[in-house]
Amino acid sequence: MHVSAIIAAGGRGARFGGSQPKQLLMLGGVPILKRTVDAFLRGYPFIEVIVAVPAELAASPPDYLDDVIVVEGGARRQDSVANAFRAAAPSAQVVVIHDAARPLVTASLIERTVDAAFEHGAAIAALQATDTVKRGDASRVIRGTLPRDEIFLAQTPQAFRTGVLRDALALAASASDATDEAMLAEQAGHHVRLVDGDPRNLKITTPEDLEMAERLIGARGSAPAMRIGNGYDLHRLVAGRPLILGGITIPFDKGLQGHSDADAVCHAITDALLGAASAGDIGRHFPDTDPAWKDADSIVLLQRAAQIVSRAGYAIANLDVVVIAQQPRLVPHIDAIRHSVARALGIDVQQVSVKGKTNEGVDSMGAGESIAVHAVALLQHS
Ligand code: MG
Repeated sequence: MHVSAIIAAGGRGARFGGSQPKQLLMLGGVPILKRTVDAFLRGYPFIEVIVAVPAELAASPPDYLDDVIVVEGGARRQDSVANAFRAAAPSAQVVVIHDAARPLVTASLIERTVDAAFEHGAAIAALQATDTVKRGDASRVIRGTLPRDEIFLAQTPQAFRTGVLRDALALAASASDATDEAMLAEQAGHHVRLVDGDPRNLKITTPEDLEMAERLIGARGSAPAMRIGNGYDLHRLVAGRPLILGGITIPFDKGLQGHSDADAVCHAITDALLGAASAGDIGRHFPDTDPAWKDADSIVLLQRAAQIVSRAGYAIANLDVVVIAQQPRLVPHIDAIRHSVARALGIDVQQVSVKGKTNEGVDSMGAGESIAVHAVALLQHS
């Protein structure tokens, strides 16, 4: 499924006061807009993320918008969304729209909204009212009590099949201010489904909201900026197996014994990455009792570990790996291993260090009966 994302960040945030658009205010030391954009970039495999920002920001976008398409916002919210939609790829089947002012959106909320829109045409995240809902008049006198089970408070993400959004935005040109796209889709005669929203997915509209969001982030255990992980692996060297290290097959008369391809470099790095994210170890994620991993390409395990790290909100800063092998000589293969690991993890080769060592002839490694690998991984909060 081809899904595009639009982040509406064109507003000025008049309700917040102050000179700065509210989406540029800092939340826990990071601009709100950056948090929202990052949540989208890592939350779903979008074909593109399009961000509509005020003209002055579009003229010189900050670095954190490097991986998105930046368009100028319009006078009203629906104009910003329309501008962004015009920039969307023709192949998009579903478009998901999100408020920049909701930085605490989760990957699972994005996914269930997109899935429901794909199935039903249009879907929005919403919370069912839990308080009793009263209707009041201008002088604050209650004029009725509404049935709570019929009241839903709309959030974003709001997702639409492309044709539905096109109909909705066609109305937008003539409509007065619409507070969300679902309203336009409803007016265009489409059914819009409600999916379970998230009470933490709050919209930062006032200074009190910002304080609440700070508390919610803190309550998550205030993720540290950096985390370090350590990985170790050892396999026996036996005849009749290929020797594979970091995805590279090295010419030698023996290879490493194991359930998978026994790539000890990949295994040690995988454990270092999982360890750094406090996400368990290789045995828990890829048990050797599971036939799925028999003769598995360990590069795939490495990529899975990188995915787990990224979902935890971290990026790989660098890796340092020591391979202890009496034989063969590894020097001619070190660069190929570094490139292979970097490619698998989607990082630069400069972030991957691999060093070879002999074991001075002692122990099983020194006797040529085994190869051992130590790896250290440093993660930085993304
Ligand atoms: Mg192993």
